[in-house]
Amino acid sequence: MATVQFDNATHLYPGADAPAVDGLDIEIADGEFLVLVGPSGCGKSTSLRMLAGLESVERGRILIGGRDVTGLPPRARDVAMVFQSYALYPNMSVAENMGFALRNAGMNRADTRARVLEAARMLELEDLLDRKPAKLSGGQRQRVAMGRAIVRRPQVFCMDEPLSNLDAKLRVSTRAQIAALQQQLGITTVYVTHDQVEAMTMGHRVAVLRDGRLQQVASPRELYDD
Ligand code: ADP
Ligand code: ADP
Repeated sequence: MATVQFDNATHLYPGADAPAVDGLDIEIADGEFLVLVGPSGCGKSTSLRMLAGLESVERGRILIGGRDVTGLPPRARDVAMVFQSYALYPNMSVAENMGFALRNAGMNRADTRARVLEAARMLELEDLLDRKPAKLSGGQRQRVAMGRAIVRRPQVFCMDEPLSNLDAKLRVSTRAQIAALQQQLGITTVYVTHDQVEAMTMGHRVAVLRDGRLQQVASPRELYDD
């Protein structure tokens, strides 16, 4: 767990005339669930990708747990990312998908199994550990993708529109599940969505972006009262 600071963070795509994210300043507390919301193209994904080390920071800094990680590669940051497409390994079972990164990082079989089981319990995937992704529903696949991220016990958890491939009913139940999981893990979380309802119901605070700039950061309560 760790604090996250965007300190005047700015990203300019090559050839663009204006920065996609311009001078972003946000401090996220240890264990906080922050939602980044705004219309398509406002810079949400780019902000998240700067935090994960997937886009460069041309001006300003990113700090995780007080450590300046600007310019460090993704693997040096301890940030786990879940995208809207789940990209599970089709030939591996649920358990293998979840344990793969840990085994690759050199963790032994017994410890990996313990971690996988713990995450599977939290995500109600215990009965599905031997299934292949093709035999799972969309919601189950998304939970496996989250499991794969949390078994690493990262300092920061990033999600980019994780529910947008699910149907409306499943979105509502998965929303609650993600909020509960975040609460249980107490992990500093940044969640990107263009959906106002998601923004208002899931996080501790909401950051509103427009045209690459931060417009407002407030709790859902404060935003609602406006
Ligand atoms: P959001 O996640 O809010 O939809 P993005 O961060 O994806 O917004 O995009 C912010 C701006 O940067 C948009 O104007 C988008 O067109 C532009 N952009 C995104 N990705 C690229 C890219 N790879 N190359 C050039 N411009 C990009
Ligand atoms: P390998 O030795 O190649 O990792 P294993 O069959 O031991 O292959 O398991 C693959 C991965 O999935 C490992 O990370 C393992 O810990 C995990 N795993 C396999 N089956 C289970 C299970 N039933 N419960 C929890 N974790 C499991």
